[in-house]
Amino acid sequence: MSIFEQVESEVRSYSRSFPVVFNQARGAELTTEEGRTYIDFLAGAGTLNYGHNNPELKDALIEYISNDGITHGLDMQSTAKARFLQNFHDYILKPRDMDDFRVMFTGPTGTNAVEAAMKLARKVKGRSTIVAFTNGFHGVTGGALAATGNEHHRGGMGTSLNDIFRVPFDGYLGEGVDTTEYLEKLLSDPSSGLDHPAAVIVETVQGEGGLNAASAEWLRNLEAVCRRHDMLLIVDDIQAGCGRTGTFFSFEEAGIKPDMVTLSKSLSAYGLPFAIVTYREELDIWAPGEHNGTFRGNNLAFVTAARAFELFWHNDEFAEEVQQKAKHLRAGLERLIRHYGPSTLKLKGRGLMSGIECPDGEMAGEIIREAFENGLVIETSGAHDQVVKCLVPLTITMAQIDFGLDVLDKAFAKATAAREKKAS
Ligand SMILES: *Cc1c(COP(=O)(O)O)cnc(C)c1O
Repeated sequence: MSIFEQVESEVRSYSRSFPVVFNQARGAELTTEEGRTYIDFLAGAGTLNYGHNNPELKDALIEYISNDGITHGLDMQSTAKARFLQNFHDYILKPRDMDDFRVMFTGPTGTNAVEAAMKLARKVKGRSTIVAFTNGFHGVTGGALAATGNEHHRGGMGTSLNDIFRVPFDGYLGEGVDTTEYLEKLLSDPSSGLDHPAAVIVETVQGEGGLNAASAEWLRNLEAVCRRHDMLLIVDDIQAGCGRTGTFFSFEEAGIKPDMVTLSKSLSAYGLPFAIVTYREELDIWAPGEHNGTFRGNNLAFVTAARAFELFWHNDEFAEEVQQKAKHLRAGLERLIRHYGPSTLKLKGRGLMSGIECPDGEMAGEIIREAFENGLVIETSGAHDQVVKCLVPLTITMAQIDFGLDVLDKAFAKATAAREKKAS
């Protein structure tokens, strides 16, 4: 029995899909204690957009630590924090016409940012209900879990999850049904039974929920509903943000302007715990310390995040590179679909947040197990774990993408053959 089975809680999850001991990592490569190297199509569930141990970020971090830079300082002012705020403002907010946005440091995980955003939205509007969507994932602490759809996660709470009104996401009721019209109708009908919500929280691409990508038009319609009915629009960009879809924020393509945005996962650029909520200035009605936490802002993450903004977001080059890679990956996935199941398999997602939906979770599970055997770390997502999800580091090479596609090709070949045999 390994030390993990002996001592670690049954709650462990990813380690069950990949039962090896990883020891080193660089870029899109993960290496085990035995020296076997895998290509990483999971990237820390979207936390490693710039790859493992990105050398330039690592240098900045090592230099900072060697100089006895502040590691922990509650939410006191530090040189590292000043640099993060300056660079976030200059490289991210300002060019996107968001220079009136404030930054709130929350506890260091995504769910902390979601809790803070929902709490502030309720405080600003003086209302408790928040609209969330089918298959949405926003974290597993009480408030965020209420907004999350997943039954398995919700079941872990043991108390009732309240003050959320669930609306079908784009595409949930089939093509051609605009579910924002349903929300609009409820809000316009004084007898619909829906109490006036404070806000709407949405992922533009549902990461955990099965790579469901909202159309730009649906997002614009949703924004219009929010404006018409005085509700704040919160985009949870924890997974889809930081360049994943080919622009820094995932909503840029739709041309919408949310009131609040949550960021975490790849925000530190180095896999360090770090989360923020950024929102329009006039929403900043917090009293000092009203929402707090010991680990608000992580100085080491400030250093790597600030450096990443300079390196990757000073112009459009990196974003264009991501778009090229996304095109290449998605073309490869489309080839697999044509070959192995044009009527049963479906391309999902957007940008470098793409994958293939299988008829069921069993098939997707077989594919990722087979892929792992052949040197690829990749996971599933979706209500039935039926989507094979490619969440590569954005810095991955084309050759590494091709390696992954080859491995997936073999895995799909094997899984389809097994299904055909079973059916006959
Ligand atoms: C991962 C994720 C969260 C939760 O982040 P944690 O760091 O796991 O708490 C929230 N929202 C989205 C969209 C996520 O992908």
